[in-house]
Amino acid sequence: MTVLRYKVDAGIAWLTLDNPPLNALSHALRAGIVAALERALADAKVQAIVLAGSERAFSSGADIKEFADGSFYADPFLPALVDALEAAHKPVIAAISGACMGGGLELALGCHYRVARSDAKIAFPEVKLGLIPGAGGTQRFPRLVGLETAINLIVSGTTVPASLLKGPLFDALTDGVLADAARKFALELGKKGWPVRRVRDLPVKHPQGEAFLQFARTSVAAVSRGMAAPLRAIEAVGASLSTFAAGISTEQKVFSELMVSAESQSLRHAFFAERAAAKVPGLNEKTPQRKIAAVAVVGAGTMGSGIAMSFANAGIPVTLLEAKPEALERGIAGIRKFYQGAAAKGKLKADEATRRAGLITPSLEFAAAAKADIIIEAVFEDIGVKKGVFQQLDKIAKQGAILATNTSTLDVDAIARFTKRPGDVLGLHFFSPANVMRLLEVVRGAKTRPDVLATALSLARRIGKTAVVSGVCDGFIGNRMLDPYAQQALLMMEEGASPQQIDRAIEKFGFAMGPFRMSDLAGNDISWHIRQRHYAEHPKMRHMRIADRVCELGRFGQKTGLGWYRYEPGKRDAIPDPVVDKIIDEERKALNISPRKIPDAEIVDRLLYALVNEGAKILEEGIALRASDIDVVYLTGYGFPPQRGGPMFHASRVGLGQVVRRMREFAANDHADPAAWKPAKLLARLAAAGRTFEDAAPAKKRKSRG
Ligand code: NAD
Repeated sequence: MTVLRYKVDAGIAWLTLDNPPLNALSHALRAGIVAALERALADAKVQAIVLAGSERAFSSGADIKEFADGSFYADPFLPALVDALEAAHKPVIAAISGACMGGGLELALGCHYRVARSDAKIAFPEVKLGLIPGAGGTQRFPRLVGLETAINLIVSGTTVPASLLKGPLFDALTDGVLADAARKFALELGKKGWPVRRVRDLPVKHPQGEAFLQFARTSVAAVSRGMAAPLRAIEAVGASLSTFAAGISTEQKVFSELMVSAESQSLRHAFFAERAAAKVPGLNEKTPQRKIAAVAVVGAGTMGSGIAMSFANAGIPVTLLEAKPEALERGIAGIRKFYQGAAAKGKLKADEATRRAGLITPSLEFAAAAKADIIIEAVFEDIGVKKGVFQQLDKIAKQGAILATNTSTLDVDAIARFTKRPGDVLGLHFFSPANVMRLLEVVRGAKTRPDVLATALSLARRIGKTAVVSGVCDGFIGNRMLDPYAQQALLMMEEGASPQQIDRAIEKFGFAMGPFRMSDLAGNDISWHIRQRHYAEHPKMRHMRIADRVCELGRFGQKTGLGWYRYEPGKRDAIPDPVVDKIIDEERKALNISPRKIPDAEIVDRLLYALVNEGAKILEEGIALRASDIDVVYLTGYGFPPQRGGPMFHASRVGLGQVVRRMREFAANDHADPAAWKPAKLLARLAAAGRTFEDAAPAKKRKSRG
């Protein structure tokens, strides 16, 4: 397979990278560039060399699939290739359009000159994978753009247009045909006798270098939430103030240390996990899809309004239906306020905000949804209310329309049976706030047709969501796992820990928010209602009295100013409240518990392994298709620390044998509910065999659990 095209035209050798879609620097492409470079250097007719990519990408950088099988390091290794380009005795010009990122940008920095389209996309995204540029980028980039810009871009991983880095990075920019601009630039060089200019020979100018580095370290440490790569990037770029050789050796040391770090392995796992989640057995590019041009949302409450905005943000018109005029009024006013706020803060242009708000048409008549290609229900979480809505939708929706429910816990198959078209029904479980949160659980019912599922997955992509397919069960993947997690939090509180200690311990592990702060944010009444339903369904179930009493006092969390914590008006700081301490104390006495000091490590392990054990059940039941899908749910919807790779990945890294041993210890605890710590069959089997969740065969068949 050719990965590079070579031609000589009027003294210029054109090396065009041809490794679609994005010219990833695979081993074959690297070898191709070296061979073509040698050929051009040996050809007396060649005066200058142009290295170009495609319109879509000069190069997006390393082929990260090669990290796993070692070919990433195979000769020619990227740093050596970049050095070879730079060492060339004939001028090498990079002609850059589209993505020029990571290793692709390092390749361009090895060239003697750079000509680019003004809209080329420039970035060093390595930190997002827990890495730093490792082919000289941390040394050559500051030599061209200066220490400050180099640190800003390398630490943040942000993408900027070439036009923003104009002078220092690029020798010429064009809005026209890139090849013409590159040829023109080469001819100008010819007039000067074909000089070469090596970036490595340039100095890094920054009079207050050290002071600036100290400032950068302090500001980055404050926002990097326990991630190592951003700070290590500063260390490497800072080394450019020394000699080029010393700087390169620091870069290589940092790069190789990060490459084997748990942080980078976890972030790489998350990267591949998101891509894997899009692949669903039984669906492929040939699966037919339905056209979605118009959407209707039923219910203009918290979720319905957010869902409507998700579509409007993607330019898709939405009809927003309500039962009550005042609820519709409130929903629309909230939407308007959100867009006006975004415009006032400069996050959206004023006309764009108006256009988006204008895409949402309010209505009190169900008939207004008759032309919608998909109708998403977001009314009260009550099966009777949902029944009424779906029966009505069945009457008015056009043939071929998809009917979706945003239920968090109810049986999607039962909802589908309220209609005469269960094949057209599925769950679309958005997360709050729906216009912000990336996760979308796509719940496949027993009768959901493949084309309905395929359409929902493409639609999710269109509106910028990360979709994960789940089977039907109470709580689907994410909330079902949250149940035993929250249960452990409540049990540990009875045993001796305070809400603050539990929140702090898991936040120190890296969670965005501990269980009590999260519950205060989401509304304690939501879990209270679910608990009450569970108490009714399972009469022998233990009542969580502390949590129930907190709710009986109307302490629903931030929205009422009081919850597990108290909140000052207009502020979100969680302040411990003696009223809650008193309830905890009284309930401990009622349960005859003398509180013990629970170590933070126990808190973290109990919370995590409660998630993991339920995750294993979800996997063995086929509710989730693969362990990595569960990780994606927790990383994108539940604030799980990205540098830990998700609960299932984390457990596999700890070792499933160790996880099971810890669970046995917890089961032996006086106050424990030993049944809760019985390892899922899949977990026990994998642990006994010394294997990981990644070794578990992907679920072929989806099962439903009512
Ligand atoms: P909400 O109470 O804020 O809004 C529900 C809206 O539905 C109300 O405005 C109500 O007037 C309207 N409604 C009720 N019956 C109707 C009918 N027959 N026709 C038209 N409109 C009707 O509730 P919410 O928090 O937006 O939750 C809606 C759904 O989304 C529930 O199923 C809930 O479980 C689910 N959900 C909620 C969250 C969350 O964090 N709030 C997250 C995910 C999913």
